[in-house]
Amino acid sequence: MTADRQWTSYFQERLDSVLEELKTYVEIETPTHDKSAVDRLGAWIAARFQALGCTLETIKQPVTGDQLVLTYGEGDEQILVLGHFDTVKNVGTLATEPWRIEDGKAYGPGIYDMKAGIVFSYFALKAIVEEGLATNKKLVFYWNTDEETGSASSWKSIQEHAKRSALALVIEPAYGDGELKTSRKGGGEFTLQVEGRAAHAGNEHQIGVNAIIELAQQAVKIQSWTDYDLGTTLSVGTIKGGTTSNVVPAHAKAVIDVRVASVPEAERITRLMQELQPVDPRARLTVTGGIEKMPMEKLPAAEPLLRHAQEQARLEGFALGEKGVGGTSDGNFITVLGVPVLDGVGPVGDGAHASHEHVVVDRIPERIALLVRMLTTM
Ligand SMILES: [Zn+2]
Repeated sequence: MTADRQWTSYFQERLDSVLEELKTYVEIETPTHDKSAVDRLGAWIAARFQALGCTLETIKQPVTGDQLVLTYGEGDEQILVLGHFDTVKNVGTLATEPWRIEDGKAYGPGIYDMKAGIVFSYFALKAIVEEGLATNKKLVFYWNTDEETGSASSWKSIQEHAKRSALALVIEPAYGDGELKTSRKGGGEFTLQVEGRAAHAGNEHQIGVNAIIELAQQAVKIQSWTDYDLGTTLSVGTIKGGTTSNVVPAHAKAVIDVRVASVPEAERITRLMQELQPVDPRARLTVTGGIEKMPMEKLPAAEPLLRHAQEQARLEGFALGEKGVGGTSDGNFITVLGVPVLDGVGPVGDGAHASHEHVVVDRIPERIALLVRMLTTM
């Protein structure tokens, strides 16, 4: 049984092999847009998981890397373990951000977001296999290849696998000091275009319809729908309009960033955007875009899962907190289906997408230990 073992010390003893595997992942650079690079690491990952007895389904992609679905065990119920091995760092980043361990931190492109999470999953499964541990459910590891650009090629198949799952663990980096991420905001981008009527600014001012003035009034209104208490923010991010100062501008355009914490808020803002009416009835408004990622809500079913995870952490001797965050992940595609998610199960560290990206080495064993316990007891 798992409960009477200290898995943290088990992985402490195996930390060198974990770091070696991590080094291999980091040194095969995988920017989302470079299919052959991403597929190179994909082949390595597939072989590693297959060697542990997983069956492989490859979801072929013409442009992005092929997604990997690796299934372990049998049964009607399954746990989806979700992550991605594409990164935002171009090939060649290693020249300035090489793999290295300094002051107890392991550095390298994509290590924290989120190659470490896949390596942790591999070592958790390796322990399950080598120690003959039973799992209550089939384990389905879904390794995505285009998360960093919004998962256009993968979100549908992620949802198909999520629908068949009792729960999903997203192995993205932990928050702060190791907290799980139990909710994430959703968001998207709206574009508002205004068409007015051009006219000579001196001779025919009265017959012109000034698109910039119309847009300015709409911008103030849109921004005012922000509600910090509900976690809803709107930010008019760019505006463009006009040609020269002596012409009443006929065209103006704004792009608006929207973040929401709940599905009703996503629907409310979408409705408000679509129902915008011109202040000057002679102007015409066109709204495009929308909320592409629904919020990852903390479903009621996630609460007992969280408590269970916290109990497993306690048995390993550490406290596990939780946090709602603003940034999105593939977890956002899952809770809208009613499937509970625990996200941020991966490494403790810092610097996602930045040059100081790293994971904290002495927190690695406890994270893999937690995974072993969750995969065998949930
Ligand atoms: Zn990520």
